[in-house]
Order: sequence, then C-alpha cells, then structure tokens
Amino acid sequence: MVIEVVRIGQRVVRDDRVTTHVALVARAFGAKKILMTEVNPDIKDTLEKINNTWGGDFSIEFIDSWKPVIKMKKENGFKIVHLSMYGEEINDIQSDLRKEEKLLIVVGAEKVPREIYEYADYNVGIGSQPHSEISALAILLDRIQQGNQFNKVFSGAKRKIIPTKNGKNVVVKETRD
Ligand code: SAM
Repeated sequence: MVIEVVRIGQRVVRDDRVTTHVALVARAFGAKKILMTEVNPDIKDTLEKINNTWGGDFSIEFIDSWKPVIKMKKENGFKIVHLSMYGEEINDIQSDLRKEEKLLIVVGAEKVPREIYEYADYNVGIGSQPHSEISALAILLDRIQQGNQFNKVFSGAKRKIIPTKNGKNVVVKETRD
C-alpha cells in the first residue's frame, strides 16, 4: 500500500511545531510523503536531517493549494481519507481502508473547508471527540497497517536503535569522507 499525507490549513508560525510532528509521524508510521503549503521551509531541512541520520526516503512536497493536488491524486488512483471527528468511526471503517492500494490522508489544522468532506472517499473519525491531528494520524496509520509499519526498514540509516530493556543501544554506522 502507498500512503501519502496532505496537511491543509496550517497557520504560519503558530502551527509549525504541530506540522513538523505531523510530518514526523507520517514518516515514522510508514507514509512515503507529506504535501503541505510552504509556511515554513525549515520543516524540509528538519526532515532531511532525520532521513540522513535515521534512513529512508520520506519526502516533503510544497504545494500552492490542496484542491488541485487532491483532484490530481484522485485521478491517479488514490482514495482520499479525511481525518475528522465528524467522520465514520475508525472501528467500523478500518477493514475497508486496509483493502485500498493508494491512500491520501488529509489532516486539518484550525479550520477545514466544507468541500473537503465531499472530495473525501472516507471521512474518518478517531473517536468523536476533538483531539489532535498528530494523534489522529498516528492512530489511523497504525489501524491501517496493524503495527506492520514498525517492521519497515529505513535504508541508508547512520544510526539504528537496537530495542533494549534498559538504557540505550544504538548502532552507529561509520562513514568515511
Ligand atoms: N474544529 C476544527 C475543524 O474544522 O474540524 C478541528 C481542528 S483539529 C484541532 C485539527 C485536525 O485534527 C482536524 O482537522 C482533524 O484532521 C484532526 N482531528 C482532531 N480530532 C479528531 C478526531 N477525533 N478524529 C479524526 N481527526 C481528528
């Protein structure tokens, strides 16, 4: 399955940290790419540094606006999954989502335009209480992939954690310049 994430509606400066965390969750939980408007170019550097150290080829694409991107992705066979507390309950819809081949997950910020509910193939609630786009994305990605995202190999990593009961065990790959 190919999973991409699009972040819509983030506010300059105020949402920077949350948007960075949305991107980090997308990467760590198996998505290939995040698309967002360029409100803070530093996010790209942050993610490049993470890829450089911890491996993988997760990418960020800056877009001008979400609507043409969602239309284009739909034409390319992606099913649009909009995370919203008003959507269908994840417990009821997760098995349908697992059958899809390509998903574009739409994550909102402050205010989500009404149209997105119509563009979406699935409006999905992670419970029906307001919480956070970071937690909603993490839970959705986990429910879809059922934990298998953590078996993903992040190739080219300079550091690899060996999970351990006590302390930290990190294998550091030597590099020669
Ligand atoms: N009142 C806002 C609206 O217009 O929907 C909610 C904004 S909320 C802080 C930011 C984003 O978090 C939402 O757009 C949605 O993607 C996600 N989110 C928050 N709670 C959620 C829930 N219970 N289920 C699914 N997504 C949720």
